Amino acid sequence: MAGVACVEQILRHAPKFQVTIFGDETHVNYNRILLSSVLAGEKSIDDITLNGLDWYEKNGIDLRLGVRIVDVDPIAKTVTGDDGSVTSFDKLLLATGSMPIIPSIEDVKKEGVFVFRNLDDTRALLERARPGLKAVVIGGGLLGLEAARGLQVQGCDVTVVHLMETLMERQLDPTGGNYLANKMNQMGITVLLGLSTTKVLGNGHVQGVEFKGGGSIPAELLVVAAGIRPNVTLGEKAGLEIKRGIVVNDYMETSNPDMFAVGECVQHNGICYGLVAPLLDQGKVLAATITGNKGPKYEGTVLASKLKIMGVDVFSAGEINDKVDGSEVIRYEDPSLGIYKKLTLKNNKLSGVILVGETADSHNYMEWLRSQSDLSKMRRQLLFPDSPADGGLDVAAISDSETICGCMGVTKGTIIQAIHEKGVNTLAQLKECTRASTGCGSCTGLCQSLLKAVAPEFEEEVKKTICKCIQFAEHNLREILRSQQLKSVQEVLEIYGNGVGCEICKPALSYMLDMLWCGDHDEDRSARFINDRVHANIQKDGTFSVIPRIRGGVTSPDELRRIADVAEKYNVPMVKITGSQRIDLLGVKKSDLPKVWADLGMPSGQAYTKGVRMVKTCVGTEFCRFGVQDSTSAGVELERRFENLFTPHKLKMGVVGCPRNCAEATVKDIGLVGQDGSWQVVVGGAAGKSVRKADLLITVETTEQALDSAGLFFQYYRESANYLERTYDFVERLGIEKVRKETVYAPDAAKQALRGRLQKSKDLSYDAWLEGSQPKTANQFVQIAPMEVYV
Ligand SMILES: Cc1cc2nc3c(=O)[nH]c(=O)nc-3n(C[C@H](O)[C@H](O)[C@H](O)COP(=O)(O)OP(=O)(O)OC[C@H]3O[C@@H](n4cnc5c(N)ncnc54)[C@H](O)[C@@H]3O)c2cc1C
Ligand code: SF4
Repeated sequence: MAGVACVEQILRHAPKFQVTIFGDETHVNYNRILLSSVLAGEKSIDDITLNGLDWYEKNGIDLRLGVRIVDVDPIAKTVTGDDGSVTSFDKLLLATGSMPIIPSIEDVKKEGVFVFRNLDDTRALLERARPGLKAVVIGGGLLGLEAARGLQVQGCDVTVVHLMETLMERQLDPTGGNYLANKMNQMGITVLLGLSTTKVLGNGHVQGVEFKGGGSIPAELLVVAAGIRPNVTLGEKAGLEIKRGIVVNDYMETSNPDMFAVGECVQHNGICYGLVAPLLDQGKVLAATITGNKGPKYEGTVLASKLKIMGVDVFSAGEINDKVDGSEVIRYEDPSLGIYKKLTLKNNKLSGVILVGETADSHNYMEWLRSQSDLSKMRRQLLFPDSPADGGLDVAAISDSETICGCMGVTKGTIIQAIHEKGVNTLAQLKECTRASTGCGSCTGLCQSLLKAVAPEFEEEVKKTICKCIQFAEHNLREILRSQQLKSVQEVLEIYGNGVGCEICKPALSYMLDMLWCGDHDEDRSARFINDRVHANIQKDGTFSVIPRIRGGVTSPDELRRIADVAEKYNVPMVKITGSQRIDLLGVKKSDLPKVWADLGMPSGQAYTKGVRMVKTCVGTEFCRFGVQDSTSAGVELERRFENLFTPHKLKMGVVGCPRNCAEATVKDIGLVGQDGSWQVVVGGAAGKSVRKADLLITVETTEQALDSAGLFFQYYRESANYLERTYDFVERLGIEKVRKETVYAPDAAKQALRGRLQKSKDLSYDAWLEGSQPKTANQFVQIAPMEVYV
């Protein structure tokens, strides 16, 4: 990260260098911070690439991937690669990072023991992790906890073993550490504190770990995350001054005038950093120095740490030791909410902050730390700074010099400049232009608020009201419907709209009422789209397509016979197998529809509605020799659970019995992918106008757990998406991290509430073609205008 970040800065100085980059990893540079997100299935490897190969080509950089430099000759000014190459240099920049510390544990070199530092480690962990596997992580620091959570998301049964008495003792005080340990325990990760691991048990492969003083626990996979130390090997070979790291001065110069160093391998002013923010500051200074623009100095970085675990908010910055002379401590604790906040002040200036369970104000604290503002006039509000109306953040009040993206060191001023001078209007453009929000991602909300406030076209992207008939944004309207207990579209339009409504707001309101009251509302059929009014899909010649429900694509000779009889009896011009494994009777006259439904005697496949369409399944274990899960039964059950329910937009599902993915479950709104001994539940996929690979929601062991997880996502999407928003837009807008937090990793009570509302909707739902449905006379079609065609 440091090496290429520095080269990016060097290029800005338009130097006349021929740049060669050696990297012993085989991948182009990537955002190492996000390896935790890759392990947790939140990001793919492609998502974390920082500079693609084309960037190197475009900038004329000779990139030597997979080449480890094994020697440096400071006299001949050459480096030797492990491929035998010898390359000469005028200036050498070392950015060799850190190496994981492996404590002296007996037999630690067993099969099944991993570290967590690079892409290969992450791939290996992902390959090994599976539901029910007993995983032990040694180390309760940031890295160890993130590794633990990632493995747990992959289904492992995880225990964290920490040497110290509290977690993250370098960033949190004992109270904060205890709050964190409680939270980890609540999430199902066992935390063992104050234990020194002395031995890895097992014959060849890890089977457990043994502790000092006796006692052991079983382990099938072991991750050692016991800290890092600067990788100074090349610095030593080059004869540079080394202490803990390669010693550099304020200009990032080493003891050799032609050699420079940056990143975790360096020691500046006695400090070896282990986070990204300092190395970016260092890279800027070094770029100026090496290109002959020596001037700016590196004067150290105020460090902030944030734990990247969904649902576990932890932030720490500055001094955590409150026993320093003259320190004052302000604290707040709420054990039942799991919130702990501690501020340390010295001379009315903030010197340290610890937040567990509630980190929304971390940005304010970071700024107070950096600016060393006098806080004497704000002391009453210090623990609970005023929250502005727009959701906890007033971007206008932030000064231009304040850092918005702590990982990449991007200030508000830089973002504003990019918006004004480079025409940045979207988050993607902002990322590309400034690198803001490309680190841990915690500043994304802030960047979006800035874009919203300053970028003129960003404003236009935001759809404010549903339509001109009703002047409320969708989320406000939902709240109004709930608080005012409104139960009919007409009532809403009369009180809050123009009393009439239109083809945009009426279906939207109809859906919102259905979802809010779980079907217990006054259904106004005229407010629905035409297809929902007629329970069939109107075709371009004015006839209709009739698709009976065939759950999971599994039918019977009797059903096939009835379909064939109906097709003959009503002279259906075309009988077609759809792409979703259903049978479509095309060209049915509208006057025949009720008779066709009655003769078929099958439920509606609802292939016309903004609702649950179908579940496509593969053969699975029942007949397929590759199958590892019974995809057919799971698909039939999935369809049975959700059928007849409305959703913000059409919703398609797929279930496959193994990763060969014959029924394309990974491009469905909800997909279940069978694995050996587990199911992956994936969401937000698409293979229509948009093509998107679904994101992994969770990996679970049993079919029932998979169906339940799918149900949690299904109900959350129904309740939270904008009307007419497909799951792929919804998941992308919120980010899979938030979706998980609100569904499968939500507190038990919230999950139970989602299940309850889903069940209530289901209980009140009915099949449109069969008994109990709305009137099935041809009269219901009188309102159809001939040109109304909806697909
Ligand atoms: C899982 C994980 C999560 C993290 N989370 C955060 C976080 O949330 N926030 C944060 O600020 N930081 C985080 N970090 C730390 C952050 O990733 C590092 O601070 C950063 O990557 C350091 O950059 P660097 O360039 O100094 O070292 P590296 O990124 O490690 O790069 C050094 C590169 O040099 C290569 N190399 C070493 N020796 C040789 C040689 N002889 N020849 C050729 N190549 C060589 C290495 O293989 C490596 O690819 C995290 C780290 C990990 C592993
Ligand atoms: S996805 Fe797997 S189980 Fe299903 S049909 Fe294909 S190979 Fe068989």
